Amino acid sequence: MVNFTIIRRDIRRLGGTSLLRLYNTLTKQVEEIQPIEPGKVRMYTCGPTVYRDAHIGNLRTYMMADWIRRSLLAQGVDVYHVKNITDVGHMRQELVETGGDKMILAALAEGKTIGEIAEYYADKFYRDELRVNILPAQVFPWATQHIPEMIEIVEKLLAAGFAYESGGNVYYDVPNFSGYGKLSRNFGGDLLEGVRVEADPLKRDPRDFTLWKAAEPGRDVKWESPWGDGFPGWHIECSAMASKYLGERFDIHTGGVDNIFPHHEDEIAQSEGAFGDVHVNYWVHGQHLLADGAKMAKSSGNVFLIDDLVDRGFDPLSFRYLCLTVRYRHRMNFTFGSLRASERALTCWRDRIWEWKGLPRLDELPPETEEWRQRFWDTANDDLNLPGAVSLTWNMIRSDLPGQAKLDLMRDFDRLFGLDLDKVPADYEVPEAVLTSLEQRSALREQAEYPTADTLRSEVLSQGYVVADIGPTTRIRPKTALEQQAERWPAVSSSREIGSLLEEEPRYDYSFILNAYNYVEDVRRCVTSMLEFSRDRSAEIIVVDNGSTDGTAEFLEGFQEEHDNVRVFHCDHVIGDAAGKNIGLKQSLGRYIIIMDASTEIVGDLLTPVTEELSDGTVGIFGPYGLSTDDMRHFHEEVEKGDADAIQAYCMAFERGAVQKVGLMNEGFRFYRNLDIDYSFQFKEQGYRILADSTLPLVRHEHRQWEELDDNQREEMSRKNFGRFLRRWGNRPDLLITAGGRAFDTGFHH
Ligand code: AMP
Ligand code: ZN
Repeated sequence: MVNFTIIRRDIRRLGGTSLLRLYNTLTKQVEEIQPIEPGKVRMYTCGPTVYRDAHIGNLRTYMMADWIRRSLLAQGVDVYHVKNITDVGHMRQELVETGGDKMILAALAEGKTIGEIAEYYADKFYRDELRVNILPAQVFPWATQHIPEMIEIVEKLLAAGFAYESGGNVYYDVPNFSGYGKLSRNFGGDLLEGVRVEADPLKRDPRDFTLWKAAEPGRDVKWESPWGDGFPGWHIECSAMASKYLGERFDIHTGGVDNIFPHHEDEIAQSEGAFGDVHVNYWVHGQHLLADGAKMAKSSGNVFLIDDLVDRGFDPLSFRYLCLTVRYRHRMNFTFGSLRASERALTCWRDRIWEWKGLPRLDELPPETEEWRQRFWDTANDDLNLPGAVSLTWNMIRSDLPGQAKLDLMRDFDRLFGLDLDKVPADYEVPEAVLTSLEQRSALREQAEYPTADTLRSEVLSQGYVVADIGPTTRIRPKTALEQQAERWPAVSSSREIGSLLEEEPRYDYSFILNAYNYVEDVRRCVTSMLEFSRDRSAEIIVVDNGSTDGTAEFLEGFQEEHDNVRVFHCDHVIGDAAGKNIGLKQSLGRYIIIMDASTEIVGDLLTPVTEELSDGTVGIFGPYGLSTDDMRHFHEEVEKGDADAIQAYCMAFERGAVQKVGLMNEGFRFYRNLDIDYSFQFKEQGYRILADSTLPLVRHEHRQWEELDDNQREEMSRKNFGRFLRRWGNRPDLLITAGGRAFDTGFHH
């Protein structure tokens, strides 16, 4: 049997450059991109919402569009690229329908005007795109500057019978558009099943969506329209701006998979309803980025920005390299470990370029050079098989092609990769003194004085340079920020990397544990008080640096050096509250564990009462700040002395031996809130009592981790953790002190 596809591809390969093929969400097939106008592709990308930062997941999606663009450019096709900026005109459909407006809330929370917020985040977005080498779109249209265009399309839709007005709102009449559902295959029958949406009585069909919404009394952000003052729905902005800059029908439209429905489905209904033509030929959607295995969400504390990577010493282009290693149609799990591997790989490529740039010119490159080139572009153009292109590049680097040919190929490949490889200089700027040391070293080596030569080399290394002996020549470059940082101290990316010592016999009476995240002065105050009030005791202090970036890590290194009983564990990013505390728990070697928060300070003899209370085997957790509840929903800080339902994380003491029984903390809690309650319930479940005594010698200072959040963030992050707690313990009222027949010692009831 003859395999037709293979023959066809072989012919292509002989025939020259292949053309880009992409998976089209509309046809569910991989298709060759055939521009409407030969030699020119018009492309639209759903851009950022500028009331918040674009995170690295968003950037992954924009990078996908960038690679499409670069691949077309490399085959000689011109690309006209439009990326909209969604400022206040945009609201998620559910927000439009409920009248909520995050942008306005955020502006108020930050004490800024809406325009200021949009400018601020748009500027950051432009800058971040540049930092990962995304070619700027030719046009970045802003939604609020296109309200008349949006109104015009709504009028067209009304005239064509695809929309109706009701009470100052205009809705799209979905049942009237026969093509509805062709992109997402979401035809609407079971659309709303399982989703509880407050039915809008003005809508004729539950699938109908808002094109224009009447302004409610008191709304500031609104525009005049034929239907009264109001504001546009979200989807209409993309129909308006795409048609204005790219025409009624254009080639490629990109976005993330979450845009397929309803955003792009509705965009098709609007544009095709209004213009009567096919809206877009190729719909391309990028899969999502996860972080540490979970969907990136602020409320999970795993949203990362380019700034976060830079703060940790990474080159933003390492993230670009990392994105090259996973196909755009696959979800990608971001970890700092994989980012580090990417930075190492990228540094290696740069080192090779640097090395090849030092070679003499070759007049002619060997014929295999063209074979490598052809295979590269064939691979990359096969539905953007960038991981394939990267691995081919590695094979090429390892091949026996001369360095000059490799350099030529790398320059060509980087038209697609966009890693600035050609910016690697042939010679780095190095101070005179360092060069002199190197020359001395070469001389010593010639005289076979290797030990002295090696000493000089180490000196140069410690001055922040990498020395490479390539054949007869020696080359030198400055260390990257990450190389410098990696030398400072080891860091873990996950609590799993730290083993448990819990099986071992205790070596101290007490283990203090602090999970530190920035606020170096608070950390200093807290650990100093731990030292001060355990002077004559057998105690150790374990501090987990949970991805600090403000100098806390440096402070802790010094602190550890000065004190034998201090151990510090660094995390290369914020691994979350429970995971950080679990590192401390697993490493603790004291009979009693005292977990503290950096906002708390010990001001007297804490250890005597801790020992006394915990020596009564029925007490699981003891601490100053007790909580009680009647219903698992409201927790009161009313327990001053006696049994409680939970002890707050500012200071909780328990026996190390109990940890084996109750287990470690639930690492689903990345944010600290409710974790202490959850852990207290783990103790209760094992039959332990929780005991509070507000007279313990502690002082609570400002809790900055909480203070720095705005109301929205507090709400969102707390809600998630509270849900986590309730799902686990909501049906265990038997664990409450009110149920156990133990009376409250003190306190009042709300
Ligand atoms: P938004 O600002 O939420 O409108 O998102 C901007 C772009 O990023 C859209 O194309 C989204 O589909 C895409 N996007 C959102 N979340 C992620 C994620 N976690 N990973 C990759 N792309 C995303
Ligand atoms: Zn859009």
